Amino acid sequence: MQSKLLIGYDVERVPGRVPGEKWVGRKVPEDTTKRFLQRIVDVHRAVNVPATIFMLGRNIEAHLRELEGCAASGLFEIAQHTHDHFPLKTVVEETGSRVYLKGLDFNRIEEQIAEPVALLKRHLGIDCKGITTPYTYYRGLSDRPDILEIIARHGLVYTRSYGRNSLDYFPLGWDLQPFFYDRQGFPDILEFPVQGWIDAQWRHDNGWDKQDEYLAYLKEQVDTHADEGICWAHLQHDWTSLLCDPELDWTRRFLEYAAGKFETLTYHDFYKAKKPESDKETV
Ligand SMILES: [Zn+2]
Repeated sequence: MQSKLLIGYDVERVPGRVPGEKWVGRKVPEDTTKRFLQRIVDVHRAVNVPATIFMLGRNIEAHLRELEGCAASGLFEIAQHTHDHFPLKTVVEETGSRVYLKGLDFNRIEEQIAEPVALLKRHLGIDCKGITTPYTYYRGLSDRPDILEIIARHGLVYTRSYGRNSLDYFPLGWDLQPFFYDRQGFPDILEFPVQGWIDAQWRHDNGWDKQDEYLAYLKEQVDTHADEGICWAHLQHDWTSLLCDPELDWTRRFLEYAAGKFETLTYHDFYKAKKPESDKETV
């Protein structure tokens, strides 16, 4: 059975803060988000593959023209990556870089989710349906029904928050597949675990210049999982995609390779197929 591939771009560059240039170890151009949004439309048009853009709320107003271009292509869903890119849960890596990141105080979380919803609606007329959470977490939001309650209240129907294994690191196993948060009392909210290595960590650990090797890693995942009937939530960033590759050449090569073997769709289109409107339990 053919597998499904959901391409998602976390678009998040904030000069001086995201990504941490000390962690990257090299300069990341300040205008990364603008250049990425301009170029990615052409790449996706060329291969005719849909994707979801997870946009940092604080950057929406400065990139309206580029976001309109993405939306007008008919190939992109636009969703959010919180307003300021603070971790919603504490991250404590037990291996690898052993990063520790303190989660944002609960009383500041609602504004981080609500603001991008309002901005996408006000400026682009878009109903934001999904969120990818900064850094991703072990178990996603399974242990945070308080955050799920905020997400549900603001009209979001899916999250992409589960990207780390029990060491709070990578890779996440491929057996983890989309699931509804029904045990937590939110049967209409779907979680998309991000399987395998997240691009930023693979490339940080193996070398930013090793693009051919990273592409080979992705192709290996395509070959391994294309016929398993699974859903692959793939994650790239604006800055990882452009770093060492201003034309997004390897991104295009990955899309060409994968699209022939997987069915490709946006996150929200996958959600709608999984949960038709008539099936919703709470609206
Ligand atoms: Zn991010």
